[in-house]
Amino acid sequence: MNPYHRAPIMPVVSLPQTIDPFKWADRATQVVADVPLVQFTRLAADLVNTNGSVQVNCRFERDAQKMAFLRGDVATTVTLICQRCLETMELPLQVTIDLALVYDEDHAKKLSEDTDYLVVVEQEVVLAEIIEDELLLNIPFTPMHEACDALPYQAEIEGDVPAPVKENPFQVLATLKK
Ligand SMILES: [Zn+2]
Repeated sequence: MNPYHRAPIMPVVSLPQTIDPFKWADRATQVVADVPLVQFTRLAADLVNTNGSVQVNCRFERDAQKMAFLRGDVATTVTLICQRCLETMELPLQVTIDLALVYDEDHAKKLSEDTDYLVVVEQEVVLAEIIEDELLLNIPFTPMHEACDALPYQAEIEGDVPAPVKENPFQVLATLKK
C-alpha cells in the first residue's frame, strides 16, 4: 500500500503564483480552484469569449518510489469557431493530468516508458502554465461541430462500393503543424 495516500492532504483553494512542486509533493498538497478563463491569456487568444472558468482539482504527491507526481482533473467549456460553418460552438474540455515531475532527462530514465513527465528545471513552477499547456493540447487544431449542418454526410455514406480511403484532414493538419 502506498503510504503517501494516507498522508494528510493540505488543500489550497486558489492558484498560487509560483510553487516548489517537490516540496508540495512531500506534503501531499491538493489544489482545488475555480480559475477564470480570462487569466489563461494564451488559451484566451484562441477563444471567442472568456466567459466561464476552469475547475482545477489536482494534487502533488509522491508514489512508493518517492517519485513526485502532479495528478488530477481540469475541466472547462470553451467557445470556438466551427471551421466548417463558421458559427460558434461550445466545446467541453475534461483533461486528466498525470505527470511525473523530474529534475532532468536523466531523472526521467527512472520512469516507465509510458509515463508522461515534466522536467522542472527551477524550483519555482507556475502551476497555471502547466494547466494552460494541458488545456491547449486538447483544443482541436480545426474545431468543428460534431454534427455540423454544413457537412454533407449523406453523399459520403451512400452506395455499396466502399469509398476509397481518404486522408484524415486532422492528420494532415497535424503534420503541417509540426
Ligand atoms: Zn459547424
